[in-house]
Parts: sequence; structure tokens; C-alpha cells
Amino acid sequence: MRDILSPPPAVVRNEMQSIQERFRKNVIPSYGRFDLALERGAGSRVWDVNGKCYLDLGGGIAVCALGHASPDITAALIEQSGKLSHISNLYYQQPQGLLAEQLVGLIGPGKVFFCNSGGEADEGLFKLARKFGHDEGRYEILTAENSFHGRTLAGISATAQAKVKKGFEPMVPGFRHMPFNNLAAARAALSPATVAILIEGVQGEGGVTPATPEYLLGLRQLCDEKNLLLLMDGVQCGHFRTGRFQSFQRILEDSPAAEAAAFLPDGLAMAKSLGGGFPIGAFWARAPYADLLGAGTHGSTFGGGPLACAVALKVLQVIQRDHLAANAREVGSFLLAELSRLAARHPSVLRQVRGLGLMIGLELEEKIPAFAASDKAAAIQFVNALHQAGLLAVPAGSRVIRLLPPLNLSRAEAEEAAGLIESVLAQLSP
Ligand SMILES: *Cc1c(COP(=O)(O)O)cnc(C)c1O
Repeated sequence: MRDILSPPPAVVRNEMQSIQERFRKNVIPSYGRFDLALERGAGSRVWDVNGKCYLDLGGGIAVCALGHASPDITAALIEQSGKLSHISNLYYQQPQGLLAEQLVGLIGPGKVFFCNSGGEADEGLFKLARKFGHDEGRYEILTAENSFHGRTLAGISATAQAKVKKGFEPMVPGFRHMPFNNLAAARAALSPATVAILIEGVQGEGGVTPATPEYLLGLRQLCDEKNLLLLMDGVQCGHFRTGRFQSFQRILEDSPAAEAAAFLPDGLAMAKSLGGGFPIGAFWARAPYADLLGAGTHGSTFGGGPLACAVALKVLQVIQRDHLAANAREVGSFLLAELSRLAARHPSVLRQVRGLGLMIGLELEEKIPAFAASDKAAAIQFVNALHQAGLLAVPAGSRVIRLLPPLNLSRAEAEEAAGLIESVLAQLSP
């Protein structure tokens, strides 16, 4: 008996390889991508083109607030796109005003400008600061070491990480850097040209490092004293990820200081989770500065379009309806506790686990023997091992892994994630 099985086709078609080949030929290679091609998702799970399922704790880098293929988002997209998708900012429309009103209600007295990404939101803050200081000849913005403020030319000038600037010099003038969480250093860094200080409440790309309450309150005091704008980049750590709308609200909630409850920055950048996957960015400016950018001084063709705003309104509505701020806090602290237990059990691999709500960083040990054979960064090798185990996560720098899952991640899913991470730690522990 022979040849019961039909012979394989002359070319065994590997879909993954053909997708990668098409990218190699046609897509500018500015990203280091993982060897994964994803096809569909549902909630906190995604499937690759070969049908393998992953628990997604990367959340599209803190974007998919309601998970993948949210029926609520789909319904909002269908409803609004059947009415009006785009009109430009030459005209008024209902969704943009409603979204601005809700954001002002969540932050404090002020006004909102809409754009399409985090980088543009930061860019708006830079322009706000320049306008504020212009007549006095002040223009300089201080940012913190290990910060991240987007990939535009001003964004990489603001970002205090050499790797994003390299090859693109000269930088946009008017940005200087200072150590993070160090008040004395901020004071020492001021010059007569300084007009603003910009920080993230929790540094994301820099490795999940929260600002301390003392730092936030001290910077507020310093900015008041020197007539500087205190600007915050809430693009990654905002939108209820830490359990409160903005990370500074979470960081300051237990502070006994009288000024903690009244703390507000003067400007705030938002994006990522704001649209739950639909591109939208925004910045809020506190009341006294909200009218600095008058007619004709700033703009965006797509910014605040009815479709994006309808989706963002739906995301906010679902976050409230389903109590997702509380969920982020509870499931986040459960996951953090589980991971801390794992760190104690696998000290040769995991050095520290830290975070707030559903923004969690796993810091790896310096030398992990299992990774010695490859020259790839430990964070990349660890994430590859997680992929093998069926879990998506996001590297930050060379030694930190970020978990930025949907805000509706369930406790059972968090437990499952901890189990998958444990299986990888067990493989790597000597
Ligand atoms: C992602 C990010 C940005 C840039 O957002 P894009 O939408 O990629 O332009 C800016 N700031 C922070 C803190 C971010 O995490």
C-alpha cells in the first residue's frame, strides 16, 4: 500500500511568510516587529493568522480600553458613520462639543483641543507653552529623563532618551532635560527662558515609573512661584488606566497635603485609550490659559471629527456603565500582587514588579543565563517567550515588560495571565 496521502502542493503556502515578505518589500522598516501576524480579536484575546490564540495584555500599547472588537464601539461607529463621518473644523457639530464637555468635567475648568494622536497632543502643549511665554521671550520647556513625548521632530526633542534623537539632529531648540522625581534638580535646571515643565504622571516607555506625590506637589509649587506652565503627558497613563481618570489623581489621592485635592496641571495631553482603538488625541488647557490659542493659531483637518468623537463618547459611557475605573484598580492590584509573588519566587529573573492599576511593569534582572546566547535585549527575548506561551505584552527599554491590558480585563483573565507568566519564569529560572 502506498501513497494514501496526496503529495503536498509544490509550494507550501505559509501565510505568515507571505505577509512578512509583503512588508519587507513595501513598508518602511522603521519598526522592529515581532514574528506575529494578527488577524482578529475579541475582548482580551487575539488570534494570529495560523489560528493561535493569545491573551492580549499589551492592549495595542494601552489603546484598546474596551478590548478588541467591542460591540459598543462597533455600534457607535456604524451609527455615526451613517450620519456624518467628517466635516472639518470649519463647522460646528454635536459630538465634539459633548466630548469636550465630558473631558472638562473629568479634569477641571478649562477647554479642550482635538487632534489625532498622542504626538500631536504633545505638540499642542508645546505650542500653548510657546504662546504663553512669547511676549516675554520665554520658550524653553523642561522634560524628564526617560520620558517619552512622541515621534514628531518636537516630540523627539522633548523626549529625554538619546535613542529617539539619534540621526535626526539638530533637535528643535527650546527643550532641556532634568532627572525625574527630583525637585531640587528641576529647580536647578530653570533658566530665565524657561516657560514650562512637562512630565508624565507615570512614565510609560521609560519603564513604568510613577511620579511621587511630593514631586507633583513640588512641581506645582515651583511652577506657581516662577510663573511656569505645569504640563502633563497623560497619553499612556491616563483615561482610567490607573483606576482614576488621570494618574495624578490616583497618585495624590492618599496624600495628606491640603493642596493634593486641588492639584491640577495647566495642560494635559491625552490619546491612546481615549478612542479605544479609533485614532483620536486631545489636549486640555486650564481655564486661565484655555483661550491662548485663538482663531487661526492652531488646527487639524481631522481633529475632533464626529466619528472619532462619537467613539470616544461611547468609550467614556461604557467605562462608566461597566465601572471600569474600579475594575482597573481591583484587577490591577490583584495582578500586581500575583506578579509580586512570582518575583519573590523567581528572583534570578524578575527584579521588581511595579505599577498602578492596569499599568504594570516587570523589571528583569541584569543577567539572565537563558538569554546570554542571543544579543537581543532581555525584554525582547522575554516577550518572545511570552508569545510562545500565548500572552502578548509590550517591552519598555531593554529590561522592562509592560502590561497595558483592556480596562475590562477580568480577574479570571488576570489569573490566567499570571499563570502564563509563571510558566515562562519557570523555564528561565536555573
Ligand atoms: C504613545 C505616547 C505618545 C505618542 O503618542 P502617538 O499616538 O504614538 O503619537 C506620547 N506620549 C506618551 C506618554 C506616550 O505613551
